[in-house]
Amino acid sequence: GRSFRPEGTRITFPNGVVVGGEEVIIMAGPCSVENRDQILTSARQVAAAGAQFLRGGAFKPRSSPYSFQGLGLEGLKLLREVADETGLLVITEVMEISQIDVMLPYIDCFQVGARNMQNFNLLRELGYVRKPVLMKRGIAATIEEVLLSAEYILSGGNYDLMLCERGIRTFETYTRNTMDVSAIPVLKKLTHLPVFADPSHGVGIRDLVPPMALASVAAGADGLLMEMHPNPDKAMSDGAQSLRPEQLTELVKKLKQLAPVV
Ligand code: PEP
Ligand code: MN
Repeated sequence: GRSFRPEGTRITFPNGVVVGGEEVIIMAGPCSVENRDQILTSARQVAAAGAQFLRGGAFKPRSSPYSFQGLGLEGLKLLREVADETGLLVITEVMEISQIDVMLPYIDCFQVGARNMQNFNLLRELGYVRKPVLMKRGIAATIEEVLLSAEYILSGGNYDLMLCERGIRTFETYTRNTMDVSAIPVLKKLTHLPVFADPSHGVGIRDLVPPMALASVAAGADGLLMEMHPNPDKAMSDGAQSLRPEQLTELVKKLKQLAPVV
């Protein structure tokens, strides 16, 4: 609850970037790490736009077992290499307990995906690591369920936790999910944890991402997690919702008019 830390949790990363402070933190990059050229180009574009974190899945939770499943360890190595070259931090998804130790040397933040928000065994293990975690809201999770899942991590002693609204499933089919912007101020009121928004998975349509990103920050989000691909039409996953590089640059400029962005 808020009363545990009325001023809110601040998470300081190795390079001095602070989440939960005055600045809105931008995490951006492709849905998946595809190859060195793609992730290096992405990292350069993400850094040039003014983001602090490079995102990119190495272990991918795909709806179909026949879709690209990610590069695994090779993807982690590429993320670390290009992030170091461009001065970015790395956030990437952990899907199962056995991946935690494999990932630790390469990453700065674990991402728990929507599908794993109620993988309680995974959450419990992430409570024992001493590395920040960003936990996304499940596709049909109530806010109460988000808070209880967060407790699995916090109760293990890992307080470096961020929550992330990423859209929930409703009767509406025009957008991929329905972005529950109201969850942001609710979570900010109920918890001391930094709250992020992922408008890419929230809406699933590239041109709707900037307005929902702006709305999320106006609603109090501490940061944004967004997909951007150097060539979205050729992306191996989630191309339709991936911003073009110039869209990310434009968006960060607009965000700066709303709130301080690094
Ligand atoms: C992702 O970030 O690429 C992802 C799979 O997100 P989610 O868990 O929100 O579906
Ligand atoms: Mn994705």
